[in-house]
Amino acid sequence: MPAPVLLRHASSADHDPGPHPEQPARIVAIERELVRRGPGLGWETRDSSAASRDVLETIHPAPYVSFIEALCASGGGQIDLDTAVSRGSWLAACHGVGGACDAVDLLLGGDGPGAAASAHRPPGHHAEPDRAMGFCLFANIAIAARRALDVHGLERVLVVDWDVHHGNGTNDIFRGSDQVLFASIHGSPLYPGTGPASDVGIGRGEGYTVNLPVPAGSGDETWVSLVEHVVRPLARAYEPQLVLVSAGFDAHVDDPLAGCRVSDAGFAAMAASARLLAEDVGAPLGIVLEGGYDLAALARCFADTLEVAGGATTPAAPDLPVHPLATEALARLVARWPALSGL
Ligand SMILES: [Zn+2]
Repeated sequence: MPAPVLLRHASSADHDPGPHPEQPARIVAIERELVRRGPGLGWETRDSSAASRDVLETIHPAPYVSFIEALCASGGGQIDLDTAVSRGSWLAACHGVGGACDAVDLLLGGDGPGAAASAHRPPGHHAEPDRAMGFCLFANIAIAARRALDVHGLERVLVVDWDVHHGNGTNDIFRGSDQVLFASIHGSPLYPGTGPASDVGIGRGEGYTVNLPVPAGSGDETWVSLVEHVVRPLARAYEPQLVLVSAGFDAHVDDPLAGCRVSDAGFAAMAASARLLAEDVGAPLGIVLEGGYDLAALARCFADTLEVAGGATTPAAPDLPVHPLATEALARLVARWPALSGL
């Protein structure tokens, strides 16, 4: 099988929101760490393409896309308290979407790698179809999932979101769909305040939105258990044809924005679970960078994620007790997903 591919682009440095935790240095730190680890990591790096307007408009209404483009062209400005753009943000954001879409195209294009990743900024999982928010302009991973359905003809895509903040954009975009199962672990209460366990999707999508909020202070024992003991068996029940991960690293104990306590080993364990759940169902695995604001922790944990997700050997499954929140989640989910009974 070909080497796993990491998509990146120099334009990520040109999205300048001013003094801000979501800063160009994030990608610099990641790329430095990948160089430091050397070719032994086994990932091939490629420049991403820029998504076209047609691709952006598979999720975002044309007037919204035009608003972002015009604001950037005018030199930029503040969109809300958290979210600002500069002249370079337009191209950076188009590559952010393009990187996620390129990853999907590689994974589903035949004779592709088993794993691909996209390391761009700005992130995307807070972006609503017609609203930038939470440092996000376009819904990178949602557009890529949409592409897997529309262009590649898939019927079931799993999006796992382990950023510490709830991926409200992805949640809302696929709330009514059974073709994308969105499973999110996130701190609560925390920005943006969405994603209660009771939000399970609507209509055909009921049961295909799985929100797993965790209290402040939660660490590996909670986060890893929810991925290994809830999301992994859920994936076996759903049988996705593609697994995408909204990989944020802001649940890290060193992160300045949130109050969770995941360690480096915890992120590596979640990456192991993600790889194993993809292998369980024979689906390729795509990793899309979201948040993560302690530069050193972000760089280490992103590189570890690539190492585990794309390494030559299958990692061992995380070995830890089933956390009470995982037991509760399984009890909630079993009505819709009977295969989860008895776990
Ligand atoms: Zn986040």
